[in-house]
Amino acid sequence: MVLRGINFAFATASFEKAEFVIVGVPFDRTTSFRPGARAAPNAIREASNNFEPYVFEHDLLLTDVNVHDAGNIEDCGSSEDMVRETKQVVTSIVKAGKFPIVIGGEHAVTIPAVQAFHDVGVITIDAHLDFRDEYMNNKLSHACVLRRNADHVGIENVLAFGVRSISIEEKMAKMPEYIDAYTIHEEGVEKAFKRALNMIRRENIYFSLDVDGIDPAYAPGTGTPEPFGLTSMDVKKCINMLGPRLVGFDVNEVSPPYDKGNTAALAARMIIEVISVVHNHRKKQ
Ligand code: MN
Ligand code: MN
Repeated sequence: MVLRGINFAFATASFEKAEFVIVGVPFDRTTSFRPGARAAPNAIREASNNFEPYVFEHDLLLTDVNVHDAGNIEDCGSSEDMVRETKQVVTSIVKAGKFPIVIGGEHAVTIPAVQAFHDVGVITIDAHLDFRDEYMNNKLSHACVLRRNADHVGIENVLAFGVRSISIEEKMAKMPEYIDAYTIHEEGVEKAFKRALNMIRRENIYFSLDVDGIDPAYAPGTGTPEPFGLTSMDVKKCINMLGPRLVGFDVNEVSPPYDKGNTAALAARMIIEVISVVHNHRKKQ
């Protein structure tokens, strides 16, 4: 684990004291279209330092929250290396009773992050279903994320939200639950996400945000942009509705070479949103 350069904003706590632990996974080897997600962890850290420490709508001072930035996973050579190292690091965070926040990297980083948990449901926000069994001869591809998650937690415990791209191979095979972007636009995000939360029977939920789930108008700096997406406010509302059920989070597929900084800022702000919501819920208990 190395931390070169800048910390995530206000992440000054030691590992021992921390309520949240941030870890970057600079991996984009299976990216199918536009590479660059390997640069995202540090770009998102940099962007995070532009925000006020006071999150006024949550009445929360981030300087009052213990967050540790563990740096980046070093051994991201092959998919197998990345999965082994990430699983080990996230498992140590979960075992220590802390809330892991993983910064990708491409979406494949979610495969080992979910393997660090037992008894969780998984909700992804994603333009893509990511339910291929393999892609370009790789079962650990970012196109196979939800399928691998289903292998670990059971197909009935995963759900994709905001989908608007499904391959014919996925359509022909057994599909996981999903709520597509068109339905969300019609139904309204609150009603649709409430349904999603009811579909997941397990109390604890791991939440994975593939930024291409958000419309490219809001999140252009990504590897596989896909029109007709959610708004950034939609996703903020989802995080707030997840509330006390959230046990782990990652944001992935930010691609700084295609970004003017707005996508990295959005990802950083979503991390701050998760920290604010989870911390305030736990404080109330
Ligand atoms: Mn994805
Ligand atoms: Mn995607």
